[in-house]
Amino acid sequence: MGVQNRVAVITGAGRGIGAETARQFAKNGANVVVSDAYFEMAEETAKGIVAEGGEAIAVSCDVSVRQQVEAMFDQAVKTFGRVDILVNNAGIIRDELVYKMSDDEFDAVINVHLKGTFLCAQVAQRYMVAQNYGRIINFSSTSALGNRGQVNYSAAKAGIQGITKTLAIELGRYQITCNAVAPGFIETDMTKATAERMGISFEKFKEYAANENAIKRVGTPFDVANAVLFFASDESSFITGQVLYVRGGV
Ligand code: NAP
Repeated sequence: MGVQNRVAVITGAGRGIGAETARQFAKNGANVVVSDAYFEMAEETAKGIVAEGGEAIAVSCDVSVRQQVEAMFDQAVKTFGRVDILVNNAGIIRDELVYKMSDDEFDAVINVHLKGTFLCAQVAQRYMVAQNYGRIINFSSTSALGNRGQVNYSAAKAGIQGITKTLAIELGRYQITCNAVAPGFIETDMTKATAERMGISFEKFKEYAANENAIKRVGTPFDVANAVLFFASDESSFITGQVLYVRGGV
């Protein structure tokens, strides 16, 4: 895929889908800024990439804090000279039925997903507009369509679709595309935590999720990384404002 020599900032890349996306970008020749709220996790992913012969640096950044976002992009540009691709992957869940959800649970999810996506895109577009090139890939979810126990997360993931389409409209004239991937059930720590909260084994939870889709298996971080690579590639220059569901079904 066409991300050779491009500079990609990937948030929440210490583990899960973000880490796999970082590895796949590096394998395809991109210089990767592996960012995570916990530096140690980002460092682990970046070290793995470098050990495989790829180019990567680790950066610590809480995407909901403007100063940290500004510092992350400063470091990216100091190291690699530019920023071509932003992958807004960082995310958390604080699931609870609406009648029990606290303000803190609601605000935490909105802050990381919605504000984090906004802040990273806003700072990234400064560099991208100046170079007349950019790819922004946001993370929505099938939960954008509604999901029990996720009034906060559903709102955030639906909002991210709105951000995606608006950025596509505003930034298209600068040859910056903005698209979203919307994964279904992907096997990561996030879905593992949901199984624990529901009091069922992860194996049973996966079996149930697999039965719900057409392909009859759960998704992997690689499945999602592949969709992100497609939107990030040079060749996807006429595709913008789209939401691609990566869910093994319709
Ligand atoms: P994950 O395994 O829990 O990884 C999420 C990553 O985001 C972690 O490395 C976490 O860092 C980081 N993060 C959390 N808050 C952050 C913050 N404020 N600033 C920077 N980084 C932060 O989750 P995942 O399953 O890979 O999910 C990745 C993305 O896909 C998320 O946007 C999620 O909503 C979306 N998604 C996942 C699924 C699924 O089934 N797994 C489905 C649909 C959408 P720490 O290590 O510091 O916690």
